[in-house]
Amino acid sequence: MPAIKVIDKSNPSHIGLQPIRVLQDLLPLKLENTCPEFIELTRDAIENKNLYPGLMYHYGNKRAESPYVQFSAIHIHESFLSYTWCICYCLYALHTETFNVKNGKTDDAADESINEILNLFRYAKSLIHEYSEWNKEKFPNPELYGDEEKMTIEIVNKLFFAAINYILCHEFAHIECEHNTKHDFDDPDFNINAEIEADERALQLMLLGCTSTTLQGTSLGIICAVFSYFFFSKYTVSSNGTHPDTDNRLHEVLLYLDPEPNSPIWTFAYIGYRLWDMAFNKNFEEPETATSNKELYFHIYEQLQNEKKTL
Ligand SMILES: [Zn+2]
Repeated sequence: MPAIKVIDKSNPSHIGLQPIRVLQDLLPLKLENTCPEFIELTRDAIENKNLYPGLMYHYGNKRAESPYVQFSAIHIHESFLSYTWCICYCLYALHTETFNVKNGKTDDAADESINEILNLFRYAKSLIHEYSEWNKEKFPNPELYGDEEKMTIEIVNKLFFAAINYILCHEFAHIECEHNTKHDFDDPDFNINAEIEADERALQLMLLGCTSTTLQGTSLGIICAVFSYFFFSKYTVSSNGTHPDTDNRLHEVLLYLDPEPNSPIWTFAYIGYRLWDMAFNKNFEEPETATSNKELYFHIYEQLQNEKKTL
């Protein structure tokens, strides 16, 4: 029997210590190509708003810290990239498993696949608190994988690029709208408004670059990006009042995208909530019946709104 072909994307020219290094080189190019206007917007921001040309990467074995803007430069940590790739993988793979179960995959086989996905999720979540090595032999990753995983890894890579692009567009918007220079940390309302404005601008930039064929993939990537904010906390309210509630950020994106009721975009949001529930024991009830994916999402969304009233 022939050995399973292994794809090894590692290359000595890659900077970084984690398997995500194989995708990192492409991030600036992906960002530049967010939409046809983006290069001109960047040029204007460099000339008039002091945007630092280039992304400031932080390499090394540190915990996953969210990207941020400091002195008009966008900072991003290697571990956060790894974390986000894993979240994209989990949402996509769990969505595929749900589909497989509906199409006759036995429960035992599905349980085993789901357990493997959840192991990757636990690893991703652990990166928020502490760095540990991404075991390439044990966990799915973009650097070393079997030929039979190629299609999944490539789809996840696309989701990852869309997710990171959305997050970087949010940071870019802070500079474009001059939030970083206007920041008044004594006024939390201002910060929340700045965050809402950056979310809206990021979504607008992403959608400007979409065609009818890329819209769904980009939208799924954006849902993954928003869920990357969720797993930092058991509650959606930001602890220091600087950001809008995470569930509101997700809800605004969904209302804006307005997918048809059975779109996988709703299912991704539902699965994201189930993962969050599992991570923090939220104990959301499952719906007994649901006539659409949108209804599944709203079933959890409404429980969450009730929970927030009691906080
Ligand atoms: Zn922000």
